[in-house]
Amino acid sequence: MAGEAQPDCLFCKIVTGDVPATIVRETETTVAFRDINPQAPTHVLVIPKAHYPDAASLAAAEPTLAADVLREAGAVAADEKADGTGYRVVFNTGAGAGQTVFHAHAHVLGGRGLEWPPG
Ligand code: AMP
Ligand code: ZN
Repeated sequence: MAGEAQPDCLFCKIVTGDVPATIVRETETTVAFRDINPQAPTHVLVIPKAHYPDAASLAAAEPTLAADVLREAGAVAADEKADGTGYRVVFNTGAGAGQTVFHAHAHVLGGRGLEWPPG
């Protein structure tokens, strides 16, 4: 069934607590935790608890859940005081764009100047 936990998925294991993470926010439907390899002073990942391989499939199947992820991304930025200076929300989609974990996740990056276009 769509959204079901996948046994080999790292982020599903973070949702269940089988893999530890530094969780900064949690709701009924989402978890936000610090990226293990931060690329900015603020680098937090926001994930839906349900498993979808990427942001587009999440939004197609459960638009309300996709909105939960976006709202939490904004809440993380506010918690980290990154909302005043600006921050970036990134959904890498596909290996060619740098996606390495195929459980939808928003990167929330802030706390430093961010170049455009990204690399
Ligand atoms: P992406 O490359 O867009 O799929 O993003 C996956 C992100 O997950 C990368 O930025 C990794 O540094 C991060 N990551 C991988 N393993 C962990 C972990 N155990 N805890 C927190 N972040 C992780
Ligand atoms: Zn998963």
